[in-house]
Amino acid sequence: MDVDDTYCEPPGRTAPAPPAGTAEGPPYAECVLCREPTEYPEPTKGATLCPVCAWQEAGRTACGG
Ligand SMILES: [Zn+2]
Repeated sequence: MDVDDTYCEPPGRTAPAPPAGTAEGPPYAECVLCREPTEYPEPTKGATLCPVCAWQEAGRTACGG
């Protein structure tokens, strides 16, 4: 068993680490359907949906008609 040393990770590809303790984030708009906090910031225009409702809406739109 020998290690293939031609394998290497891409250099300089360090993703920026998210700041620790993101519990106190910016105010998020709440879902218009279930009032769960969404990923969108408060001033987002239009109907903000949480991932769950967005997924359901997407499926409804895709299948509707
Ligand atoms: Zn929702």
